[in-house]
Amino acid sequence: MNKNNKNNIAKNKDGAKRFRETEKRVVAAAAAASFVFTLTSCSGSAHPMNTLSSGTEDVITSWTQSIQEPPFDFTEKAPEQTLPSELPDDSNEVVPPEDESDTDTDTGENTDMGNDIDSDSDTGSDSDIDTGSDNNSDTDTDTGTDTDTDTDTGSDVAPVVEVRTSILFETIPFQTIYVNDPDMYDDESFVRKEGVEGRVKVTIYSTYIDGVLDSTKKQRETQYFSQNRVIVRGTKPSVTTEEKTVEEIAEKYSTIYEECDTMEIGTTKIKTEGKNAVATRTYLYTYTRGELTSRELISESISERVDEVVLVGTKEPEKVTDTTFGMPFIDAAHGGVDYSVTQDFGSGHSAIDFGVYYGDPIVASMSGTVIAAYDEGYFSKDNILWTYGTYVVIQHDGYRTYYAHLSSRTVSIGDTVEKGQVIGYSGNTGRVNSSSGGPYAGTHLHFEIRKYYPSLGVYHTVDPALYLPWWN
Ligand SMILES: [Zn+2]
Repeated sequence: MNKNNKNNIAKNKDGAKRFRETEKRVVAAAAAASFVFTLTSCSGSAHPMNTLSSGTEDVITSWTQSIQEPPFDFTEKAPEQTLPSELPDDSNEVVPPEDESDTDTDTGENTDMGNDIDSDSDTGSDSDIDTGSDNNSDTDTDTGTDTDTDTDTGSDVAPVVEVRTSILFETIPFQTIYVNDPDMYDDESFVRKEGVEGRVKVTIYSTYIDGVLDSTKKQRETQYFSQNRVIVRGTKPSVTTEEKTVEEIAEKYSTIYEECDTMEIGTTKIKTEGKNAVATRTYLYTYTRGELTSRELISESISERVDEVVLVGTKEPEKVTDTTFGMPFIDAAHGGVDYSVTQDFGSGHSAIDFGVYYGDPIVASMSGTVIAAYDEGYFSKDNILWTYGTYVVIQHDGYRTYYAHLSSRTVSIGDTVEKGQVIGYSGNTGRVNSSSGGPYAGTHLHFEIRKYYPSLGVYHTVDPALYLPWWN
């Protein structure tokens, strides 16, 4: 039996050494006589980082104690034992951790303990066990044997103090901060840096006495600080609006003409200025990212149309009547020729004869109305009027003028003539004194002025020299 047990212990010791490199479960009996070590495998918890994402998690469920921080110094209690001094450091005897009653059972039955150890040892990897066993087996074998003896001694009386260690991980949430970018539109954003949660490792030491929780101690250690999440967001407005006001002709004005008898023909005057009906419209332009996306009419007003009124003159222009006599032809003063007088007034000659060239224009001496206009041959030779040939008589205010011996006339009875207006052309019709013969012999203008004498009620010839500008 001892040998069996010894072998078990040795095997267990190897396993313990291997396991010490990671973590070790310790169940310590506070009784002076007995130390009980429990060893289980926690290879499944070898990489706590793998469970980080799930937040706070009890990685090692229970029964776990860090080697670096033993719950108490069991070496101090060693002197009461008969164990070799190196026993606590290098040798462990293992019992199932979950059953305190086993401890009591162990007192009387060591064989069972040995069986359990074997089961646990198998859990670890085989290669490691082999490596360690060769180095330490000789020294430790004896120690293990002694442990059995001690177990028997004190287990019934002393309370069992058990420290259970659990480790929790708490996450530290990260903050999100925003960075404004004026070159980006305000509906744009991107994550410049992802946030990282921080982690706090919380180690809880729970002390049980005889299976009853006695005290709890927590130790917190920040493992990672959180890192802010950085989001870049634009501040340039993605949607902008602009009001624009435009003026458009809604209706053109019309022009109305009104006759005006106080204005001469050919003259016009604007009475009322025309105005078009103008629509003033204000539009709201909406731009999305600089592109015009809508145009909305938000206000509109239309001014009243005003038609233009134009006055049109209908009044006949006043005729300026020159009441003075002019030469009956175009003299040198008016761009013509000064003719000689071939016969004066008097001595049975009631006119002044001018030696004009045949066919020169003859003009009215004063404005008036044509009261006689005949061609040569209209009167027979026994009529005194035959002697005038082709002639024209113009009625003036109080006077009449006669133009005789014309080759042709350009006016007729009833015509109104202006002073200086051409009424015919010079010639030699009627009775002229011909000295040289030929068609132009005796060509001259026989010009009479007859004045009205109201007391006599007749027109009587006067000397034209008294009235014509050449002599006045
Ligand atoms: Zn004459």
